[in-house]
Amino acid sequence: MLCHCTICQKFNQASHADVLVFNTRDITTPSSDYVVFKTYKAPPNVKRGSCVKCGQAAIETFSFPLLPKLTMVPAAMFAADADLPDPDAHMFYDKRVADVDDELPKHQGFIKSQLAFFKHLWF
Ligand SMILES: [Zn+2]
Repeated sequence: MLCHCTICQKFNQASHADVLVFNTRDITTPSSDYVVFKTYKAPPNVKRGSCVKCGQAAIETFSFPLLPKLTMVPAAMFAADADLPDPDAHMFYDKRVADVDDELPKHQGFIKSQLAFFKHLWF
């Protein structure tokens, strides 16, 4: 997912986030020796973890009652030659700092962005 929301911009210090989404049960979350977690918005559905040494965006966890627990890992955290899937869509495109010229779906606004996000997980 490519997320253009203002929190992702701030957290990633970039125009948008480029994250891979995993089921949390498939991920080993690094300990607080390596990652410090912060919540940028209440309620704290998403915790965002940065490297304790360099501050780089490292991992995000999503938790909400009745929904699957998810972990997002920035594409930049993978090795340069890792075989990563192509992005599926843009979300919060209305918050973009620059237009993107690609063929991917561009979801705007909170509701449509959230629906798009969960649609990819469930179907
Ligand atoms: Zn975002």
